[in-house]
Amino acid sequence: MRFDAVYYEPGSLDYPLGKKLKEQFGSLPWIPIESHNAIQEMREKPNAEFGRMKRNLIIGIRKTHKYVENHKVSDYLVPYTSSGCTAMCLYCYLVCNYNKCAYLRLFVNREQMLDRLVRQGEKSSSPLTFEIGSNSDLVLENTITGNLEYTIPRFVREGRGKLTFPTKFDMVEPLLDLEHRGKIIFRMSVNPQPLIQNFKMSDGPSG
Ligand code: SF4
Repeated sequence: MRFDAVYYEPGSLDYPLGKKLKEQFGSLPWIPIESHNAIQEMREKPNAEFGRMKRNLIIGIRKTHKYVENHKVSDYLVPYTSSGCTAMCLYCYLVCNYNKCAYLRLFVNREQMLDRLVRQGEKSSSPLTFEIGSNSDLVLENTITGNLEYTIPRFVREGRGKLTFPTKFDMVEPLLDLEHRGKIIFRMSVNPQPLIQNFKMSDGPSG
């Protein structure tokens, strides 16, 4: 995936994933920021810059870990390893959440987030289903971070209950052979070609 620049919280480079991303995108300009939540330069850009803003990658540390009760496809919505997306589906609800700042943000403290998920599952009197993909598309994110290849085996070994996430992307090859023991639910939406042509723009391989 191509990006123009990386905006990063310097503390993210203390994490293994932060170091890996620094190597991976070492040829791009790296611009330090105080917080992934408040990049003044981005906030001040006009809405017309939306598409160009999505060509930046934001790297930070997730500090808010609040689980929200859900009762649709899961018991809880869990903030996980990314928010936003590089694609530009015109109907994307993330734009309602993040407005023009719906660019892809990656959070490098995945160990901490998964530890918490495992603990939450253990604490419950009955097995729970956790939605980990309500803020982004984790299959797209996985092509950059490998986070699903980290998360799925570890949750299957240590976690109780199920993980679920939706995707519109087809880069699932590296995930298909992972052991899942029925604890991982992918949800996929498949759009017909006319919809893709008229309502979607994507920087990803499949859109
Ligand atoms: S792929 Fe999903 S998350 Fe990304 S822009 Fe489209 S609807 Fe939004």
